[in-house]
Amino acid sequence: MKVYKFGGASVRSAEGIRNIAKIVSGVKDDLFIVVSAMGKTTNAMEIVLEEFMKANRPDSLKKLKEVETYHYEIINELFANPALGTNAVASSFNELKDLINNGIGDEYDRWYDRLVSYGEVISTKIVAAYLLDSGIQNTWLDMRKLLVTDSNFREANVRMDESQTRLKLAADFSKSKIYIGQGFIGANIKGDPTTLGREGSDYTAAVVGNLLNAESVSIWKDVPGILNADPRIFENTVLIPELTYLDAVELAFSGAQIIHPKTIKPLENKQIPLYVRPFGNPTEAGSVIKSTTDNPIEIPVLILRKNQVLITVRPRDFSFVLEESLSKAFAILNKNRMKISLIQSSAISISVSVDNSRYLSGALDELGNEFKVNYNTGLELLTIRGMNTEIVNKTTLGREILLTQKTRRIGRFLMRE
Ligand code: ASP
Ligand code: MG
Repeated sequence: MKVYKFGGASVRSAEGIRNIAKIVSGVKDDLFIVVSAMGKTTNAMEIVLEEFMKANRPDSLKKLKEVETYHYEIINELFANPALGTNAVASSFNELKDLINNGIGDEYDRWYDRLVSYGEVISTKIVAAYLLDSGIQNTWLDMRKLLVTDSNFREANVRMDESQTRLKLAADFSKSKIYIGQGFIGANIKGDPTTLGREGSDYTAAVVGNLLNAESVSIWKDVPGILNADPRIFENTVLIPELTYLDAVELAFSGAQIIHPKTIKPLENKQIPLYVRPFGNPTEAGSVIKSTTDNPIEIPVLILRKNQVLITVRPRDFSFVLEESLSKAFAILNKNRMKISLIQSSAISISVSVDNSRYLSGALDELGNEFKVNYNTGLELLTIRGMNTEIVNKTTLGREILLTQKTRRIGRFLMRE
């Protein structure tokens, strides 16, 4: 069997969903299809949540209405008989309204997962109904019943063994050749919905591939494949046809938006190749990530990780940075969900660059109890793999650089945005 994943951009319009039907109709293999929320639905649901958490029910419902209208517009354009689509999603919107009207917004992270997870529930219901209406038999699955995670709300980790038992039972391909499930969502053992982190649908696809021993996983994207740089930021980008898992981990860690960093491990563990393929040109090969390649990447790769914060901590008593303070600092960062993108230490200080997030102030507070803390926000981290002077000059000249790190092959520049 194979796993296909379609991201938010692929399902943002009726045309996109028709294209999925076209791609899927030509596949002979058993398929597990993972789908994200439509377009910018997750962002929109985050606003529904914000208002709900402020106990502002009218505005929360108003925002939800906008989400509903967006989906109904797509349904009206997609189905000859729109009732097939609206009937599929009406219960989900009713559940959401019920939660907003009757829920008490106590814990942010828990409520995030409870509400925001509906984006994927709704998108998959529409895709499943449309495929069925187009004569493509399929079975819709609720990943909140199949993918068991820990209770680390908003960034849950999948419990592989329990999930495998459930998933194999539900998707055994005896009655169906195609299963459709949500990316990004699962539930803890008690059944409380969880999410796997923003852009986590790639991770779902990889986990499903691992658990069902897929022959391959394909992520369909609105780009030609994996490029050596983000074409929205850099000129003259080129396609990288083959990468190793190690290359991919390095790229994802440096901030390449192309795949979620957690995606690689479940695939590497079972040596399952990952294809990144162009949604608009399904006959093109795109890129493949696998264990080895005969064609090492020879062109420079540029990756920009935005919205960075440089945090520097010093022991209060002017003692040297010893193992103890190192481990203390990293324990605090880890506990506060800081995503570290770079580490540097000297005799008396430790500097890290992290992604800015809503947990930053908590982390700074807690670090402040133990250390003297300085920080700078509004930074971006440029990683250049395969450096040469020309590229470094072109990308960093005239920029204010707060920190540089160089190895033989890789240069990293933390700069003001
Ligand atoms: N819908 C989620 C997000 O936008 C997950 C995903 O798209 O992968 O973050
Ligand atoms: Mg998305």
